[in-house]
Amino acid sequence: MNICWFNDNRLGVASNDVIHDVTEALQALPPPAYPGAAGDHLVRHLDRLLPAIANVLPNATPYSIAEVQLASPVANPGKIIGVPVNYLAHVEEAAADVATFTDRYTGGIREQGLFLKAASSLIGCRTPVTIRMPDRLTHHELELAVIIGKTASNVLAADAFSYIAGYAIGLDMTIRGPEDRSFRKSLDTYSVLGPWLVTADKIPDPQRLEMRLLVNGELRQSTNTSKMIMPIAEQIAWASSFYTLYPGDIIMTGTCEGVGPVNPGDTLYAEIEQIGAMTVQVA
Ligand code: MN
Repeated sequence: MNICWFNDNRLGVASNDVIHDVTEALQALPPPAYPGAAGDHLVRHLDRLLPAIANVLPNATPYSIAEVQLASPVANPGKIIGVPVNYLAHVEEAAADVATFTDRYTGGIREQGLFLKAASSLIGCRTPVTIRMPDRLTHHELELAVIIGKTASNVLAADAFSYIAGYAIGLDMTIRGPEDRSFRKSLDTYSVLGPWLVTADKIPDPQRLEMRLLVNGELRQSTNTSKMIMPIAEQIAWASSFYTLYPGDIIMTGTCEGVGPVNPGDTLYAEIEQIGAMTVQVA
């Protein structure tokens, strides 16, 4: 099932260019309580929500996807975890252009560690990425985004998939330069998630997905998730050995070669097999 937030906090299910308004299904969720459990309330209770959606779907009002505003499919992630240097060809392109890629690209993921992007940087695909530092390079990084579904601490890689709620297309927008990654990747609008959350049951093998990104119609990035250096299960196991993962936490699983600059007026088009496609404007 493809789950999204659209227009004014409406819950939707997307299929075949149509979004069905299933907001009524939210009544199946327990009322949020303060301070409540950590994480995203809807993702935490996805098990309760999905049967309720199935009940209301036959009578749900349809909207054309083209006419709705799509927000981030995860409303309140606790954290966005980034995995650096996870595709060899991207590491090599960075090594070949040290003037642009002043980030640390030497050493593997386990030497570099993970990084965190501020949750406040998150937008959906119908909100423009807004350049905040026009005198600096902003790059696009296309990534498969994994959304955690259950609280996870010190989990084994062999069990990791049972902690995944679903998947989405992620854009890890990045200012190039010498500052800490968390600074350069956490600007408002610099994390895009969309177009919807595809529940994990629909993607049995997320390590075999074609993905690509175009800027103004020109192909920039193209790869397959099979090329990840550290696979998703290992990312979850490793991340959960440092950070407790909560429902709604997002892991951006790394980008491939072909990253490059974006400027106001550009149009990004990103697609990942079995998830869908999204168009994102740059302002
Ligand atoms: Mn990245």
